Amino acid sequence: MPRPIQALIHTEALTHNLARARAAAPDARVWVAVKANAYGHGIERVFQALRGADGFALLDLDEAQRLRALDWRGPILLLEGCFEPRDLELCSRLGLWHAVHREAQIDWLAAHKTHQPHRVFLKLNSGMNRLGFRPQAFRSAWTRLNALPQVDEISFMTHFSDADGARGVEHQVRRFIEATADLQGERSLSNSAATLRLAGDARVRADWLRVGIMVYGSSPDFPTHDIAHWDLRPTMTLRSQLIATQQLQPGDTVGYGSTFTAEAPMRIGIVACGYADGYPRHAGTGTPVLVEGVRTRTIGRVSMDMLAVDLTPVPAAQPGAEVTLWGQGPRGTVLAIDEVAHAAGTLGYELMCALAARVPVLTV
Ligand SMILES: *Cc1c(COP(=O)(O)O)cnc(C)c1O
Repeated sequence: MPRPIQALIHTEALTHNLARARAAAPDARVWVAVKANAYGHGIERVFQALRGADGFALLDLDEAQRLRALDWRGPILLLEGCFEPRDLELCSRLGLWHAVHREAQIDWLAAHKTHQPHRVFLKLNSGMNRLGFRPQAFRSAWTRLNALPQVDEISFMTHFSDADGARGVEHQVRRFIEATADLQGERSLSNSAATLRLAGDARVRADWLRVGIMVYGSSPDFPTHDIAHWDLRPTMTLRSQLIATQQLQPGDTVGYGSTFTAEAPMRIGIVACGYADGYPRHAGTGTPVLVEGVRTRTIGRVSMDMLAVDLTPVPAAQPGAEVTLWGQGPRGTVLAIDEVAHAAGTLGYELMCALAARVPVLTV
């Protein structure tokens, strides 16, 4: 028998979550971000469930090729644009739309030989200070692009730094509107957080949403709001089994570094899951976990291949008992990936992307 750990990808949940993005902004088109191999889910595994999207957004040209190999004929957007001039050849061949965020990318386009002019998304740095032209440089970038025979339609995009938090997006929206005023073209601003929290604002939802994390069943503004609040469903489950149990006496410790000491007699279970499977090593004692669908907590340090759980709430659990590390448990139970991430000081994004290659994945 193989080691009992397994990941599940839930196709119905993916479709449901995509519908939630549509419902939040019914008149906008939807890019689904499938970068990082669909946030760790696997592009090939999510494709059928998400093919109702209007387009797919990603960074990696290999991933764009994989989408075309699945026979996706619709729009694909390269969120970081081209990395070197010859990437434009692949854009021409595969019909990829690409972001233009710096001058060199315009130079490469000007030198590119193509029969089909390219659709580009000119990116404004409205305050994130990662990619994009600053407002003062935006007009001249547009003027250059607009004069190129290699360029077809020019659309506009920017990315929010604080759509999930207190600072909000107003300062960035204002810069975007000012920089793009009286320019013709489609616009795209919103990530998942802006879509869920702010898409009532027509300036924010614009023509194209760009949603990632919400489609993968993680709340973009956890712990302020959880997936139940946003009516999102877990799309990735990490599950395993107990492979041993231990009866502890007061004073007994658990695991490397003896970071947990039993104060009273207690039973613990050992789970076949560790950081080499993608479970976060920084999740300390108390991280939520389900055993047979019953919520309990981890105990002590996570090791490479194992972790320990408190069996107090599930006294009958024996080796072989089902353990849900995150996602959908038995009998309709749910443990949001956000709760585990929060306990480990990280985000659902990181955990799903870090699912280890050694974990067998089943699409259900
Ligand atoms: C990843 C990404 C998104 C999607 O962000 P989520 O927070 O996952 O919704 C949108 N836009 C850009 C530019 C991105 O890189």
